[in-house]
Amino acid sequence: MQAAVLGAPGQTSVETCAFPDPQEDEVVVRVEGCGVCASSLPVWEGRPWFDYPLAAGAPGHEAWGVELETAKPVAILSQHAFAEYVAVRPSRLVALPPELVGRPFPGEALGCAVNVFARSGVSAGDTVAVVGTGFLGLLLVQLCVGAGARTLAFSRRESSLELARVFGAETPAQTLEQTCDVAIEAAGAQETLDVAARLCRTRGRLVIAGYHQDGLRAVDLQLWNWRGLDVVNAHERDEVIAVEGIRAALAAVRVGQLDPSPLYTHTFPIEQIDEAFELLRSRPPGFVKALVAIA
Ligand SMILES: [Zn+2]
Repeated sequence: MQAAVLGAPGQTSVETCAFPDPQEDEVVVRVEGCGVCASSLPVWEGRPWFDYPLAAGAPGHEAWGVELETAKPVAILSQHAFAEYVAVRPSRLVALPPELVGRPFPGEALGCAVNVFARSGVSAGDTVAVVGTGFLGLLLVQLCVGAGARTLAFSRRESSLELARVFGAETPAQTLEQTCDVAIEAAGAQETLDVAARLCRTRGRLVIAGYHQDGLRAVDLQLWNWRGLDVVNAHERDEVIAVEGIRAALAAVRVGQLDPSPLYTHTFPIEQIDEAFELLRSRPPGFVKALVAIA
């Protein structure tokens, strides 16, 4: 089978690899596609603490496909999903309904948004800021608006603010100091962290949803401390909770609380994963989410 191998920073090749040899408790899934995640950008770009080549299929982790034996459509939790086939435990599968057959469902990315939202403690009537409106931020905008929160979206990219407005957010031109009950940082950058903190009211909640995995951050602890902020690092590390998130995201998509389809802006064949990452890095106008089509 074919799988993508990140051999060196920025250099992915498609190689012929051994068909997965499932353990007794695993099933094989034929992968149809996999999202390209911003959290994978540091390992694709290269940082001193990563070793190359990565394992075949890594760092693809937002995959959906078809369980080989039963031909049932599934979303899967696997860290090696830039590949034609992966072996996974059944507990890492989420069955997809017939209406989603043939449509993308990057389960881990959608589940991540739903889990972050749950940790955010957003209630109807809250004023919530979403700072950084990439794929995760725009999903959070949908969920916050749907929950009845007044939702403010902040981004430097006009095309994503436009989408945030379509989803029901306000997009103020300036950072409004101390106006928000909850501020969700969703870009994983120093600047968005600073802006989100400033938006929080006294005793507000600063929710860190972006990945800050590419080095140290400076924290305005004086501000955090003076305002008595609750700070929530909202990523889940437990795979069981991640799978529950995928299941909850599926339910949210089915009832229309979550509509990721307008956010899938670019699709690449597996041979062009590097182009997908390059686009993710440069984020041209209109770009939100790249998917890799595998089968
Ligand atoms: Zn991801």
